[in-house]
Amino acid sequence: MAQALLALGGNVGDSRSILARAVAMLCDGLDVRLLARSSDYRTPAWGVTDQPPFINLCISAETSLDPRALLHRAQGVEYALGRNRAKEQRWGPRTADIDIIAYDDLALNEPGLTLPHPLLFERAFVLLPLAEIAPERMIGGRLVREAAAKIDAAGIEHLPARVGV
Ligand code: ATP
Ligand code: CA
Ligand code: CA
Repeated sequence: MAQALLALGGNVGDSRSILARAVAMLCDGLDVRLLARSSDYRTPAWGVTDQPPFINLCISAETSLDPRALLHRAQGVEYALGRNRAKEQRWGPRTADIDIIAYDDLALNEPGLTLPHPLLFERAFVLLPLAEIAPERMIGGRLVREAAAKIDAAGIEHLPARVGV
């Protein structure tokens, strides 16, 4: 079994509900088992800033899938939730995006899969939720808690849990 960290985000539709479904679909309890889930965060759009804010969260999961199979699973969930890469702009609006942030301590740089995720340390919208569930995790020689403390988190809002949804 490996341990994977994943980041989820979206800004089209009822993102909190969509991402909750994404977590449930991804973590079937068989080959992907949820270990921890962060709170939801409302975050200013990154990269392409002229669009509505995103909801972001991170999870850690135990998995028997290899990294490619995990990516394939994640992309299947994105599509099932209405994502259509052919029609979208890079870093533009989307219903659900699921990135693999880290997979054990694997370093990989292949077409279609880079691990750890190359933009992790530039993104407060990933580091803040990640620090909630894995503060002591080292990724690429850096401590998640320290990276989260250093990054500019302007405009990021930690959302209270929703009851009964
Ligand atoms: P970014 O990767 O900068 O967050 P994005 O998530 O908007 O951008 P996508 O269109 O979702 O980009 O994905 C583009 C490609 O990135 C995917 O087809 C996938 O093969 C590749 N990719 C490479 N490394 C990873 C990773 N660690 N997790 C998810 N996708 C990855
Ligand atoms: Ca992404
Ligand atoms: Ca992605």
